[in-house]
Amino acid sequence: MSAPRVAVVGAGLAGLAAGMSLRRNGVKVELFERTRLLGGKATSFSVDGVEVDNGQHVVLGCCTEFLSFVDEAGMRSRLRMQDRFEVTMLQAGRRPARLSAASLPAPLHLAPSFMRYPLLSLRDKVAVARALRRAAREPQPPGNMAAWLSRTGQSLACRRAFWDPFLVPALNAPLEQVAARDGVFVIRTAFLSGRDSARIGWTTVPLARVAESAAARCDAVHLRSGVSALVLEDGAAVGVTTDGEEHRGFDAVVLALPPHRLAPLLAGCDAATVATAAAFTTQPIVDVHLWYDVPQALLGSAGFAALIDSPVQWVFEKAPGYLCCSLSAAADTVQLAESELARRCHASLAAVMPRLRAMTPHRVAVTRDADATFVPSPGLRRPGPRTALRNVVLAGTWTDTGWPATMESAVRSGRIAAATVIETLRRQPASAAETELAHAV
Ligand SMILES: Cc1cc2nc3c(=O)[nH]c(=O)nc-3n(C[C@H](O)[C@H](O)[C@H](O)COP(=O)(O)OP(=O)(O)OC[C@H]3O[C@@H](n4cnc5c(N)ncnc54)[C@H](O)[C@@H]3O)c2cc1C
Repeated sequence: MSAPRVAVVGAGLAGLAAGMSLRRNGVKVELFERTRLLGGKATSFSVDGVEVDNGQHVVLGCCTEFLSFVDEAGMRSRLRMQDRFEVTMLQAGRRPARLSAASLPAPLHLAPSFMRYPLLSLRDKVAVARALRRAAREPQPPGNMAAWLSRTGQSLACRRAFWDPFLVPALNAPLEQVAARDGVFVIRTAFLSGRDSARIGWTTVPLARVAESAAARCDAVHLRSGVSALVLEDGAAVGVTTDGEEHRGFDAVVLALPPHRLAPLLAGCDAATVATAAAFTTQPIVDVHLWYDVPQALLGSAGFAALIDSPVQWVFEKAPGYLCCSLSAAADTVQLAESELARRCHASLAAVMPRLRAMTPHRVAVTRDADATFVPSPGLRRPGPRTALRNVVLAGTWTDTGWPATMESAVRSGRIAAATVIETLRRQPASAAETELAHAV
């Protein structure tokens, strides 16, 4: 008897996590990806001969499923994680400020550096402490995040110097558009759940290497193979169509796609899911990559910093002199010309890093994603993995994982989808392949 076969449509992190998880459970997995690249949003590509990420991606210590995914893909040694949470906050005209975790249990671990944090008044520090206490006690507040911050007495100065640098990039949307529930989830998960939760990490290799390593664990990978339809028989999917060609013989299909790509595949067989997907809106992210000729690193060993009151929210030094400026919730800047973005980012960096004032970048690249992440707006309904078709399962960062649009959410969704497929095949062992699975798992 042969192992069951599953088609995974979409080779972003959700599809790759589903694929690896199914493979681990004895299922044969074929990946179908529309583009020539693996990794979806979390990929990298060459711009003028230099490989750059599709935007800087960071991971936090609380992203446990993503970290185990990287392990499973054999890429943990390519991930740099801080030993403890520590960030430098830069504001024009002020000395660099630091926030870091002390060796105390959460949430006290942040207290010593927060008490010394020079960019907030004592009154604002008391307000932040009040908000943290409220976040711990009220996990599902109503309304939007900006209103929640106002309700807890956070001043404008407090938002600029503390909340916005963390929450806006994590949620990638103006806080007026974000459900308070999702904002409070970030606060609780990153800052209150453990001393190591807010540790920051990033890959030391281009993002596509992680995706390639994960994809290599699947049985077959079809690139440039956009799926245009499901092949249906008796209310179940038996295959997928790419470019007019039918690929049959599958026992289940995982659709690991962004919401707006689902409609053509599910129209006519799952109107409810298509309608749910249509309610999602997105926000852009722009990354401006600047290369300076310097003998040594500009940001020291930390490798990154947050900028306050600046169009650049975070800057990462990917290699000595190579600065990647991250602009989240970038609806106002996504259309700007590369030269204008470079000018603005250089000026913003020079305002907080005096060494740059006498320099100009010798190379510039811009990566922009107009639909970078979905907006977790108040009242948004996120679907679970099941569809109206018994053996077609959804995955994707936007599905109901409880997490905002992150790599963690994508991996969680893929693993949930894989578990759902396995449960489906176990419950309905109609074919020889399914019987095989029922014995195997
Ligand atoms: C610039 C940027 C910066 C980010 N920064 C961070 C960060 O710092 N930390 C973090 O945790 N997250 C970050 N994110 C979010 C994170 O990258 C995404 O949430 C996650 O990668 C989404 O994974 P996914 O698999 O759900 O979807 P996607 O990555 O969108 O994957 C879907 C895949 O499906 C493919 N596809 C579409 N239609 C078809 C079809 N018909 N047939 C076959 N294939 C198809 C697509 O080409 C794509 O490869 C960032 C995103 C962007 C864009």
